[in-house]
Amino acid sequence: MTTSQTPRIETRSTQEWQAADARHFLHPFTDHKALAAKGARIIERADNIYLWDSNGQKILDAMSGLWCVNVGYGQRALIEAATRQMSELPFYNAFFQTATVPAIELAEALAAIAPPGFERVFYTCSGSEANDTIVRMVRRFWDIEGRPQRKKIIGRVNGYHGSTMAGASLGGMSAMHAQGGLPIPDIHHIQQPHWFELGRHVSREDFGLLAAGWLEARILELGPENVAAFIGEPVQGAGGVIVPPASYWPEIERICRRYDILLVSDEVICGFGRSGQWFGCETLGFTPDLIAFAKGVSSGYIPLGGVLVGERVARALVDEGGEFEHGFTYSGHPTACAVALANLRLLRQLNLPRQVGHETGPYLAEQFAALAAEHALVGEAQSCGLMGALQLVRDKATLAPFAAARAVGMLCRGHCFGNGLIMRAVGDRMIVAPPLVITRAQIDEMMALIRRCLDLTLDELR
Ligand code: PLP
Repeated sequence: MTTSQTPRIETRSTQEWQAADARHFLHPFTDHKALAAKGARIIERADNIYLWDSNGQKILDAMSGLWCVNVGYGQRALIEAATRQMSELPFYNAFFQTATVPAIELAEALAAIAPPGFERVFYTCSGSEANDTIVRMVRRFWDIEGRPQRKKIIGRVNGYHGSTMAGASLGGMSAMHAQGGLPIPDIHHIQQPHWFELGRHVSREDFGLLAAGWLEARILELGPENVAAFIGEPVQGAGGVIVPPASYWPEIERICRRYDILLVSDEVICGFGRSGQWFGCETLGFTPDLIAFAKGVSSGYIPLGGVLVGERVARALVDEGGEFEHGFTYSGHPTACAVALANLRLLRQLNLPRQVGHETGPYLAEQFAALAAEHALVGEAQSCGLMGALQLVRDKATLAPFAAARAVGMLCRGHCFGNGLIMRAVGDRMIVAPPLVITRAQIDEMMALIRRCLDLTLDELR
């Protein structure tokens, strides 16, 4: 019997697990008083796009775990890759002029799918560490170039780049900044390209140019000679699946080139097929200098992240820079790399980036548009590949929002939980990012659940 077939010994009831959880486990981004009052939902197993909780309820996971389980649950190839690698060499580091075979093979595989010119990869364990690495790498780059005063990095309000000191600083989440004196020095933010919230007085395309112009204005204010880089998610994920107008990213790229500023694409969510191509920058039409990745690289089966390094930065780091004083014990962890390699092979074998770009992504967009046209609660639907958002509104004709205190998004999320659907609420934006293996029939199943939960929310508001 293999390890994965060993039966779990169920020794405790849901209530007992919840009590132990409340006593000992500090969850991320959680109000623990509220959690203890309700008890955590205990997820016990998963297959394909479905989860089962400790009460036996089947749940359609329209969030791919946390935007990461791109190949869906229960993929034997990934499980076997981990088992094989753990038996052979569970760990060895990549310091001291040493390497392991999976770390090399994965670097080669990543270079093969990355946009042209990205031949090098630096490994981390998470997206946050990838973005911390980017801060250090960008500063190191400008030191090597002889312009050490270029230290300032510009991110965006409501962007998300992780939870470490640098990640949370690059991000523009005001609640995170409010705790602990963030951002750290030399990190600045411009407004996000959120047409629904900020740009409805102009066309989407004009708004895209206007929003990109905010970057130029900030660069000039800070002094171009002091600015090291601009960072953004091709499509803001945690901020609410905010798909920028098509005019936005090409203009951002032009501005970065005009002032010789490095352009960083945070692909932690958008990478590995989610946008309908391997990387979100390809879908959104720009070429960055650095790419942060995590999540979908291993479909979340094991922690892994990293930075794909474009030609210009690689040349400085590798040919001119000597030692880069940076790294983690688990940079290039062989088991994580072996699982990621199996994941990339499966994404390619199932042709998932193309399937998302040409079949399931457009089908989701059609279904979302139909729902927005007809449902009283939905003011706007947006999607890009297999990530989408439904903006809930108080008045469909004027698109007037609900008062924040009504927490309508959370109401709707509650109905989703109760009806076997995991959807995320960002304010009053309801978000999906299902596993990329989702079929058309399963999108129909998801849409029926969404419709039901919106109806229940509407009934409750009446
Ligand atoms: N960057 C983006 C765009 C993310 O969405 C996230 C996490 O959701 C991160 C970075 C941080 O990744 P991690 O949670 O693996 O540290």
